[in-house]
Amino acid sequence: MVHDNIENGNIFEKIIKKINYLDLKFDTFLIGSKIPTEILKRGEKNKRKLDLDVENIKKEINREIGKLLEKKLEKEVDFENPDIIIMVDLRKFFKTSQREDIKIRIQINPIFIEGKYKKLVRGIPQTKWPCRKCKGKGCDKCNGTGKMYKESVEELISSIFLEETNGYGTKFHGAGREDIDVRMLGDGRPFVLEIKEPKKRKLDLEKLNKKVNDHSKGKTEYNYLKFSEKKRKVEIKVSSPDTYKLYRALVECDTSIEEKDLEKIKQLANTTIKQQTPLRVAHRRADKIRERKVKDISANIINSHSFEMIVKTQGGLYIKELISSDDKRTTPNVSEILKTKAICKELDVIEVGN
Ligand SMILES: [Zn+2]
Repeated sequence: MVHDNIENGNIFEKIIKKINYLDLKFDTFLIGSKIPTEILKRGEKNKRKLDLDVENIKKEINREIGKLLEKKLEKEVDFENPDIIIMVDLRKFFKTSQREDIKIRIQINPIFIEGKYKKLVRGIPQTKWPCRKCKGKGCDKCNGTGKMYKESVEELISSIFLEETNGYGTKFHGAGREDIDVRMLGDGRPFVLEIKEPKKRKLDLEKLNKKVNDHSKGKTEYNYLKFSEKKRKVEIKVSSPDTYKLYRALVECDTSIEEKDLEKIKQLANTTIKQQTPLRVAHRRADKIRERKVKDISANIINSHSFEMIVKTQGGLYIKELISSDDKRTTPNVSEILKTKAICKELDVIEVGN
């Protein structure tokens, strides 16, 4: 019965219709099927009775459809990492034998693009941030955009990729993140962009990279784009003890400072800093003590009340609090050492190392 529908092309025709409807471009596929459980059970029983290693009916159907599609579409079956999974649902068909009860569903697997981004201006979040008031629906507070910020590092690249792939949505995975008011300079920060349900997956990345950077010009910049794998979205988030961040901070002091005062800051090099969760993030993070090491630190005076500080730290150290002391929740700290109130006026990440 199923065999006839494979042979006479009924199933094939339905699959083609679906592919055309979605305007799908792909190279590899995998067939899955849904069969009524009572039939699967019967197959198992026969297998035991005959004591033969006969493949079950489902596998056989999948293989038969797969072979036919490979030939007709000139595409390949891929068991490990198919571009799409074609699900042939025969549950109802087994009962009715009606051609229209053969249902086809296509799962389009995501693609992953890896690269490094720079954030050249302050005030842009890394990922799309839904409006707190309306949770994305659009309201007066967000001018109907549904967002807290007009743009993000994610959206400035994903809009181009979505247009090109006709995808359903994106997810941005960064190797850590900087605050909204912090720039990301140097060579950039690694990220993986996941594009969900792309209808087209063969992309000219070099060309697209140019297009993206033209679009985001002056705000963000993306480099080293390449195709990547699913596992990378987790890997880039795991920081080993060797990873470090290099920051540039503009520090402003309440009282005047001199070159010789700045010498004292160097005592922070190779020091472990204890930080109780900063007040500014306490509402969304657990209150605990975090220990991170300052690997190296240097400072250059700018004028009587401000200086520039370059600091190399283990990932995850709160720099703003290292400067301000955060009401003595971070120790040791720059304010304490200089015996004046010091604040971080500007902050840039200038290197994300590993
Ligand atoms: Zn809103």
